Amino acid sequence: ARHQSVPEGSWQSELVRNRVIVVGSANADLVVAVDRRPGAGETVLGADTVVLPGGKGANTAVAAGKLGARVALFGAVGTDAHGQLLLDSLRNAGVDTALVRTVDRPTGIAYITVTPDGENSIIVSPGANSAVADIEPTMLDTAAVVVGSLEIPLPVVEHAMAAAAAHGARPVLNLSPATEVSAATLAVLDPLVVNEHEASWLLGGRTGAATELATELRTLGPRSVLITLGARGAVVADDQGTIEVPAPSVRAVDTTGAGDAFAGALAAALAGGAGLAEAARQASRVAAISVTKPGAQPSYPLASELGNAGT
Ligand code: AMP
Repeated sequence: ARHQSVPEGSWQSELVRNRVIVVGSANADLVVAVDRRPGAGETVLGADTVVLPGGKGANTAVAAGKLGARVALFGAVGTDAHGQLLLDSLRNAGVDTALVRTVDRPTGIAYITVTPDGENSIIVSPGANSAVADIEPTMLDTAAVVVGSLEIPLPVVEHAMAAAAAHGARPVLNLSPATEVSAATLAVLDPLVVNEHEASWLLGGRTGAATELATELRTLGPRSVLITLGARGAVVADDQGTIEVPAPSVRAVDTTGAGDAFAGALAAALAGGAGLAEAARQASRVAAISVTKPGAQPSYPLASELGNAGT
C-alpha cells in the first residue's frame, strides 16, 4: 500500500487503514416508463412511478458494503421520505451513515423516463447534494481508499481527493458525469476511473483504441487510469504498463449503475489490499453480475453471491 510514511511510534501508526470513504451523491430515482418523450408543451401518460434508491455516491457505497467492505458515505440527504429511503438502503447494505448529513433541502432526485427502446432520459435535481461541504481530514484517519464521483459540488470532490492524498488514503475518482477537473486533482488520482465516453471527452473528443486512450489520459497526470468498456471489460494503465481486463460474458438486462458497481467493488478490493489490476478484475466481475438484474443497488451482488459466476 502506498500510504504516507508516518513517524515511528506515532499514534497514527496504531490506526488500521481499511475503510472506504465514498464522497458523493444520494438521489431518489423516480422512474416512469413512457411510450415516447413529451415535446415542449405536451403531456404524455406514463406507467406507475417506481421509486428507487440511487445517486452515484450511494450506489458506489452500497456496492462496496454488499461485498463486505468497511465503508461510509460522506454526503447529504433531506429530512423527507426520500432521505429515509436512502439511509435505509445504505444501512441495509452495511454502509456507515454517520457522515451523511441531513439538511433542510429536498433530497436529490433523478427524474428518469424510460422508453420502449430502453433509452433513458434523466433530469437530476441535486437538492441536498448541493449542500455537501468539505470533508474533515480527521474523517480520513482510518481510510484506505477515498472514492469520489460528481453530482456533488466539484470543489468538494477536489478537496476530498487532495485531503486523501495528504492523509495517507488512496484517492480514486470516478469522473462521472464527465467534468473538467484541475491538473492538481488529476495528479493525485490512483486511479482516475472513466468510461469510454468520459475518456474521449477528457481528451477533447479523441477516439481510438482504449489502450491508446488510457496511455493518453495518463499524460494528463494521474498515477493510474482505468477505462471501463461495457461488455468489453476495462483497461488499466499505470507504471507497470497497460492491461486489458475482460468482463465475463453475461446476458445484460439493465446496465443502470454498472459503473457505480465497478467503482464500489474496485474500492473494496483496493482497501482489502489487492493491486490495481486484480481489483479491476474483481470489479469487472461484480459489475457484470449487476447488469444481469434490473435496477442499480438491488442488482449488486453480496460477497457470498460471487461464487464462480461468469469466470
Ligand atoms: P460501463 O460503464 O458501460 O463501461 O460498464 C462498467 C462495467 O460494467 C464494465 O467494465 C463491465 O465490468 C460491466 N458491464 C457493463 N456492461 C456489461 C455487459 N453488457 N456485459 C458484461 N459486463 C458489463
